Amino acid sequence: MTVTWLTVDCDDIRHIPKHQGHPTRSKTPIASNDLSAKFRAGLSGFQTWLASHDKPVTLFVIADLLENREFCDWLNDMMMHNQSRITIGCHGLNHKSWSAWPEDSSLFRESITQATSTIAKFAKTLYRPWFRAPAGYMAPWMVKPLVQCGITVDSSINDSLLTRTKSGRGNSWQQVREVCDQENLIQREWLTKWNMPINGPALSMFPLSILAKRAWKKLPEVIQAEQLTQIIEDKHAPVTTVYWHILDHARQRGSWRPPIPNSILNH
Ligand SMILES: [Zn+2]
Repeated sequence: MTVTWLTVDCDDIRHIPKHQGHPTRSKTPIASNDLSAKFRAGLSGFQTWLASHDKPVTLFVIADLLENREFCDWLNDMMMHNQSRITIGCHGLNHKSWSAWPEDSSLFRESITQATSTIAKFAKTLYRPWFRAPAGYMAPWMVKPLVQCGITVDSSINDSLLTRTKSGRGNSWQQVREVCDQENLIQREWLTKWNMPINGPALSMFPLSILAKRAWKKLPEVIQAEQLTQIIEDKHAPVTTVYWHILDHARQRGSWRPPIPNSILNH
């Protein structure tokens, strides 16, 4: 039986490709690492949503956020009050779109070594060696360095018509899959529908949002908290992976919720 894995990426506005980390898309860098008002609203909206059910959520954290005291305080509080439900994975050091740049295994390895050690030190027992590629940019060459950094699960493949190029120039998602297989890196691909993306930004981009809402209505039962790690790390266990952003929770004046029916969330 397939189960749903709920995952949330902790990008602030300054991290997104428009501002940072991409060779051609990043045009207006934001230098300050202060949290944006939107991100703050997102953190509080997420907290309210989390309190409305008892299912586990994995937060993919960008290591450079841990240089910000306000975010550390928020995350600490979140971890303390939700010990059995929150797990923390790695969303890179500073949200660089790695597969959009020329291959550089040693720089990537260095950056993930630093990111995982910073995040693991902070999250302690709630840390999991699980990775999500910043902005979904994941090339086959990134697999080996990830494994060398101790990563056991990757959740970056987004095999849809609109995100084909994110596996890097001249590559395909099938190649990423094959290298993961060879290197024993468990792959938890993002859910798609009719070959279209239905996670993250697609949740609020018309007409993908319509497709996303329909697909999310039919999600399988959410993994129970006590089974999460065992299921995610069992490569034979079928898992449906969905994700959204902390920033999404700032939408609709803070009342935005992921389109998961209550019947599934409170099952
Ligand atoms: Zn991200």
